[in-house]
Amino acid sequence: MTSQEIKSLTHQYIMNTYGRFPVAIDHGQGARLYDPEGREYVDFTSGIGVTDLGYGYQPWADAVAAQAKKLNHVSNLFYTEPAARLAEILCRRTGESCVFFANGGGEANEGLIKLARKYSFDKYGQGRSTIITLKNSFHGRTVTTLKATGQDVFHNYFFPFTEGFRYAAANDLDSLRAAAGEDVCAVMVELVQGEGGVLPLEPDYVKALAELCAEKDWLLLADEVQTGVGRTGSLFAFQQYGILPDAVSFAKGIAGGLPMSGILANEKCRNVLGPGTHATTFGANPVCAAAGLVVQETLSDAFLEEIKAKGAYLREGIESLALPCFDRTRGLGLMIGIEVKDGFTNKDIANRLIENGLLVLTAGPGMRLLPPLVITKEEMDQGLEIMRKVLA
Ligand SMILES: *Cc1c(COP(=O)(O)O)cnc(C)c1O
Repeated sequence: MTSQEIKSLTHQYIMNTYGRFPVAIDHGQGARLYDPEGREYVDFTSGIGVTDLGYGYQPWADAVAAQAKKLNHVSNLFYTEPAARLAEILCRRTGESCVFFANGGGEANEGLIKLARKYSFDKYGQGRSTIITLKNSFHGRTVTTLKATGQDVFHNYFFPFTEGFRYAAANDLDSLRAAAGEDVCAVMVELVQGEGGVLPLEPDYVKALAELCAEKDWLLLADEVQTGVGRTGSLFAFQQYGILPDAVSFAKGIAGGLPMSGILANEKCRNVLGPGTHATTFGANPVCAAAGLVVQETLSDAFLEEIKAKGAYLREGIESLALPCFDRTRGLGLMIGIEVKDGFTNKDIANRLIENGLLVLTAGPGMRLLPPLVITKEEMDQGLEIMRKVLA
């Protein structure tokens, strides 16, 4: 099919919930994507932080194909090796104790919320169910995680929303204390706010937050759906902040492009969600887990260090272009935000870059870059050259 045929068929038969860019993608290699007509795009998006090993990565494709032939699905009524091994690796590499596997980020965050509420219910009884989240956060699209999201624009149309969320300003302990109360059971944060505009939390704030949570017996919940799995230059961002959250959600990059998510929890939370309290049919799918094992093998400690270096290289490259539309960059590892100067809009900039062969994202009022973690210097240079040509 041609790009035009794909777009027409999509418009006719797929619900119109996405504001898509006018590009159809057919295949990819490394950090480069191609449309059906063979036009090349450098990818600074990873399918929104998912394809951390890029496209056409042979060990990943081989593992997925082999597992698909061997066993595609069997349900959580039975045991399978790939999920057990992936859970072991995640726990060993993070210091957490156990894993629950699910399928998407919003669903994983639902798990965090249920975990926190039941932890508190088991220990203190009813009435201690409120979760504090941060303004500007993003936690998902379910009726509950929309409400957990600290942005008013998301609290519309789908009434009634799940109750039990209060919002505090990021990096502001006084605001957190003002949101506190006898009814609180947990605080949920993104360590680098993603959709909100690539806003890293300050290390001192995170330390103080962790201490406050420990003092009040609030669970500290980290939404690492976007920051997790190497994106920031450590396996999880919390490892760079020197904290061990009570529970952590992950999704996007965990299986390199197959739908998988989950939560990691510490020893104190191990038995909270007992048999019959939480489940999902597709969770711990063996093909997804086999893909996740290749991601873990690839993200060695040395590879994680390279992610930091690549992120620094890309940020310096962008800042040294001194483009009229861009201000400073910020972020952690290969999760990069670029401030857009007054008089320019991020959507226009994104459209122009995409038209000219560089896929980018927006977040809040700025730009957001989430390149595949395997991106090479040559591919980064090609993207920077497109930026220079289009935006200078
Ligand atoms: C993408 C994202 C989600 C939602 O994940 P889905 O897989 O789309 O449900 C939740 N939290 C954060 C921080 C995200 O970046």
